[in-house]
Amino acid sequence: MPTDYRGPAVFGFESDLPASRVAMISVHTSPLASLGRADAGGMNVYIRELCCHLAPLGHQIDIFARRVDTETPDVTELCPGVNVITLTAGPAEPLHKDDLFPLLPEFANQAVLSSLRRGVRYDVVHAHYWLSGWTAHLLRRYWDTPFVTMFHTTAHMKRSSGNSTVESPQRIATERQVIDLSDSLIAANPAERADLLWRQRMRTDKVCTVPPGVDLDLFTPGDRDAARRRLGLPGDRPLVLFVGRIDPIKGIDTLVRALADWPAGGLRPRLVLIGGDLDPGGSPTGDLAAVARQADTAGIGGDVLYLGSRPQSDLPDFYRAVDVVAVPSLYESFGLVAVEAMACGRPVVASRAGGLAFTIEDGESGLLVPAADPAALATALHSVVNDVTLADRLGKAAREAAYPFSWEAVASGISHILNRLALGHRADLCCDEEIFA
Ligand code: UDP
Repeated sequence: MPTDYRGPAVFGFESDLPASRVAMISVHTSPLASLGRADAGGMNVYIRELCCHLAPLGHQIDIFARRVDTETPDVTELCPGVNVITLTAGPAEPLHKDDLFPLLPEFANQAVLSSLRRGVRYDVVHAHYWLSGWTAHLLRRYWDTPFVTMFHTTAHMKRSSGNSTVESPQRIATERQVIDLSDSLIAANPAERADLLWRQRMRTDKVCTVPPGVDLDLFTPGDRDAARRRLGLPGDRPLVLFVGRIDPIKGIDTLVRALADWPAGGLRPRLVLIGGDLDPGGSPTGDLAAVARQADTAGIGGDVLYLGSRPQSDLPDFYRAVDVVAVPSLYESFGLVAVEAMACGRPVVASRAGGLAFTIEDGESGLLVPAADPAALATALHSVVNDVTLADRLGKAAREAAYPFSWEAVASGISHILNRLALGHRADLCCDEEIFA
């Protein structure tokens, strides 16, 4: 047995919860990955925060992720009671998500061997994204565990958002199977739940809506100018902030066009862009270089500050330092960035898409605009940066609106589902009222 395994799950049954031991499956990206780069974003934050808030409730958790380098140890303690188990399946290097499906049987085998070596039995499996949902199905043959899947976005919802990226037929077909095979599904917003129920003619007790959360102690309001000085950001013009992975679904092209066609009156803001990769000289590289080319072509290249991906602990000051946060996504299952900005008391202008349409009340706690509409986005951003009273009102209401999304509330909702499943029930009786209680 490896000596570096620190999970108490090995040594005994330390909790009498039905779901005492939980396996989280996150094949394509690890909660140890740097955020804002490649595939690491909201799902990584979600798994880390959820698990670290589930553990104090009595769940012992192992998170299984695929090895993408040779340095990460086989077992890493994420927080007390939560381990990340890094498994080798395929080359120990980053691979495109579309190339992972053939590796899933090997990943499942390695997960089984790892649990056998450590003498761990799991009560329930929680899978994230369609690849992990399929893996949970493979694991059930060995572990005999019920499993719940959270897709963190489905190919169908992505396609219906007008996203031009073509999803693989493999994904579409497998997602349908995972929907049927899972004992329960967690939707991040009511539209996702409705879509799953309607399309699949599914039993209503199989799909629960539990939105993700935000760290309300980390993301707090603060003085804008003081934050700007601390960060050394220029104070001569308004600042618009974008935070996120560099992916077509994030609508960065819409934001660039909105700033390029800035309405008359008032200074054009600078764009502070967090996410993506910088080369050693600090210049955008990879997908971020394509964004830089678009900004140059649109004539606003000099107005964009490319800061690359940043640890999450750096972000509160960036949210506080700007005049408005833009979330121009074509689709967001939830949209953590919007809620983090709201928790910092900053006005948000976001697309009326996915979870954003539920977390933001248009005109009250932020502004909503149609997705992929640069003119509408520019008008909304313009109104916020040129109207201090409006910005203050939206910012204050935004902080209030973020309160229900605490990780404690999320963990208590998910704990309920895991325990019900481990007891052999589908996760009925899980309702939104309960997690907001
Ligand atoms: N994030 C970060 N550093 C970065 C970029 C993003 O910590 O450089 C975090 C951000 O705080 C948020 C998450 O990554 O918690 C992105 O989540 P969101 O739901 O907005 O987008 P997703 O990645 O799920 O599409």
